[in-house]
Amino acid sequence: MWQHFDHMWTYDALMPKLKPKKSSPTHIAEVCFSCEQPRTLIVDKIHRLPNEGPPEEYTFVHCSSCARPAVFYREDMGDGFDKDSYYRIYPPQERHIGFYLPGNVRQSYEEAVSCELAKTWMACVVMVGRTLEAVCKEFESSSRTIFEGLRAMHSKGIISQELLDWANELRVMRSLGAHATNERIDVSDATDALDFLQAILEILYDLRPKFEKFKRRHEKTQPKSSRVLPAMGKAASS
Ligand SMILES: [Zn+2]
Repeated sequence: MWQHFDHMWTYDALMPKLKPKKSSPTHIAEVCFSCEQPRTLIVDKIHRLPNEGPPEEYTFVHCSSCARPAVFYREDMGDGFDKDSYYRIYPPQERHIGFYLPGNVRQSYEEAVSCELAKTWMACVVMVGRTLEAVCKEFESSSRTIFEGLRAMHSKGIISQELLDWANELRVMRSLGAHATNERIDVSDATDALDFLQAILEILYDLRPKFEKFKRRHEKTQPKSSRVLPAMGKAASS
């Protein structure tokens, strides 16, 4: 099962031994994929590729409880590996956002994912709500509540009616998770909430900036008239 990492072992053998930095951890606290609980994971080896842009770090661990192995990945974006959070690459983690997110949004999102891995559903929806709150603060810094922030984002055209509806449901779910009500939050509620949150983040932070760039590129080469949508009912030529 290690063949996927063959190139890394080979590369490791050829590289001069890196002096272990004092900050190199001997164990990390992450959710074990096998125990499905937060565990102390013993570090067997840390392998760094300092010349990559950005420098990469691979941490080989095994669980202190069940002994199953895993590999975690971090990057050094200029302020040290410790500023990045661990992302599990073996066994592969299903949820991962590879595009830029503001620090507070990313931290809350990753906490929500950790709660999902640990099967703590109530905590998961609360962290989904916190991520949404961080998004609102990014776009509407004066908003005092998520509700106020979402409404302002909608009225400014930052989110569509559909996204507003999705986000509002997540806000309601977060309230249920955060307060001692009799409502139960189950696995479907939590995983669906994370799915909708991911879609919202993807539209706001990945697809929208990508589309703006795409549009600007094509505006330079195409006449404005060719970009007007054909009227309803008329046969479109293309
Ligand atoms: Zn374990």
